[in-house]
Amino acid sequence: MKVYWRYTHGTRNTYAALYAACEREGFVLEPASAPARDITCYSLNSLNSRALLIEMEHADCITVAGGPFATACYREVAKKADYVIVGEGEHRLPSLLSSIEAGTAVESCGIATRRGYQPADSMVRLDAWPPFSQMKGYVEISRGCPFSCAYCQTPRIFGHGMRHRSIDQIVLHASRYRDARFVTPNALAYGSDGRKPRLEKIRSLFRQLRNNIYFGTFPSEVRPEFVSEEALNLITTYCANTNLQFGAQSGSNVVLERLNRGHTAEDVIRAVELCLDAGLSPVVDVIVGFPFETDVDQRATADLVRWISDRGKIHAHLFMPLPGTPLAGSRPSPLIPELSRMLGSLALKGKVTGSWSDPKIAFCGSCSNDRA
Ligand code: SF4
Repeated sequence: MKVYWRYTHGTRNTYAALYAACEREGFVLEPASAPARDITCYSLNSLNSRALLIEMEHADCITVAGGPFATACYREVAKKADYVIVGEGEHRLPSLLSSIEAGTAVESCGIATRRGYQPADSMVRLDAWPPFSQMKGYVEISRGCPFSCAYCQTPRIFGHGMRHRSIDQIVLHASRYRDARFVTPNALAYGSDGRKPRLEKIRSLFRQLRNNIYFGTFPSEVRPEFVSEEALNLITTYCANTNLQFGAQSGSNVVLERLNRGHTAEDVIRAVELCLDAGLSPVVDVIVGFPFETDVDQRATADLVRWISDRGKIHAHLFMPLPGTPLAGSRPSPLIPELSRMLGSLALKGKVTGSWSDPKIAFCGSCSNDRA
């Protein structure tokens, strides 16, 4: 039985993990740029789903869909795909492929079809699955997030409990590359419950890695209130990165509160100052155009962006409503001219990257995870 992976650029880390998971069961996920027989697997997100759903509907093969969009909208996707994997795919995809090949009944937990859906009854233990094999990927060190930012799909897909890959397993997988780069919703939460850092775990990890370590930089950003002198001391002692990336999202405490971010604009300012004291350049993520933002809120974001731009860089993008989140179905607010003009002029000076007019450009959707 031939199995293909519908390759798209933004889903390559998911491909790496599922390639490794399927390989263990004897299935090789060949990359494909169009559906092909016998089976083609898709990872759907809010950017690619419109085109790929049309493609799937007309596909002359068995189609399997997963990913954040398919997880949030499984009923809609099940009208176009033969099988929809809801949530994590490491166990379900190879098990589904085995059932299809053997012609036996498909284990229904966590898999939706036109006939119905039964929720999953288990979650993946990261140590049980390699993060990649032949297909290069980053090492996913943690999954799940205890926070509930209103725009983010991560806790809605992976749950609110943080799970971590063990240090031994991280070191083993990282040893395949010279540089170690990680996927996690919050790198400084490694080894913890996600709310209170356990820096001793991070220190042990760093001590055992033999790589050039990149930590707290894409794709493993951190939360601002986790930035401390001690944490930065660990990074500057053991890691190769010269910058630290974290999410501010807004300069307005009213907006941060409504988003349920769990930190304030003052936490962001403090994190920027700590970075500078430690000799690291801050790179701060900002989302503009939240649906409930007022002119006053946008001015507060403009003030914060201006202040950061004198000290570091900003990655800005326009709010995009994601399915399965409390802000699904809402629309971005228009930007006040002062904010859009300022972002444009700072972009020309190389201080701002991203897009604040089209959410489809450079949108990440959560801290960093694209895996489902
Ligand atoms: S944005 Fe980051 S901290 Fe907030 S819920 Fe998503 S993963 Fe968690």
